Amino acid sequence: MVNSYYYSGNRYIPSSEDDRQKGFWLGSAAYSAILGTTLRWAGRPFSKQLQKEHAQNHLYQDTFLKSLEVSGLDKKGVRIIPMEFSRIADDYAKGTNACYVPKEKLLKINTQKISIAGFHELGHAMNDLIGKSGKLLSKLRWPGRTIAGLMSYLALFSRPKPKEAPKDFKDHLKDNCGKIAFLSMLPTVFEEGLASYKGIKLARKSGLSEPLIKNMKKLYSKALLTYIAHAVGMGLAVGASSMIMDYYTRPKKVESADFSLFS
Ligand SMILES: [Zn+2]
Repeated sequence: MVNSYYYSGNRYIPSSEDDRQKGFWLGSAAYSAILGTTLRWAGRPFSKQLQKEHAQNHLYQDTFLKSLEVSGLDKKGVRIIPMEFSRIADDYAKGTNACYVPKEKLLKINTQKISIAGFHELGHAMNDLIGKSGKLLSKLRWPGRTIAGLMSYLALFSRPKPKEAPKDFKDHLKDNCGKIAFLSMLPTVFEEGLASYKGIKLARKSGLSEPLIKNMKKLYSKALLTYIAHAVGMGLAVGASSMIMDYYTRPKKVESADFSLFS
């Protein structure tokens, strides 16, 4: 039995529980498939090269360790934590990742495996501690990612109104949730790009040779691609799940010719 209702002179059929479930599962599946595929596709070249860098770490290690002083970040309290001595066998200890922790001013990196990535991490520290635009971008990262997360929530959990109903603020957010999710990821992309740019400049200043810098640029472009892909993937995933949810759950207008069906 369909409970149709009238809204400003038109007759509508609301979505059924079954439609809502279908929309939710298909929307969620599309979300993870799109985001997962994009991230895997974009992440592969980067992880491949990073793994290869383990074998030629010695070419970068001394310059990297020296660059902390060259950058002046040591005087600002930044410290490098050599993760090769860590007892926990996580990604940092294994040398498949490195990170800068702004709160503690710590750079966690396996200096015996991926010193090449260290310049970029120092770039993050510079963004955070020196210069305004970098600081602003790094401050916008987490709010941006939170907004992107909220947009995925909105895409899957909000109930759309009839197409003809007047729109409020939330409806406008919902209509543009894919775009908003993409845009909210941009501070992260720009901050990453800026960290790489500063890292390359610092490597040069610390005396790293041009062929090594060239190799480093390759790795850093691949890293940036993963962040761009995350932003694009997020936008597409949120947009697609929202469209699927709308398709299944938006109340459908009944054309007047079809009225007899429900009377
Ligand atoms: Zn980074």
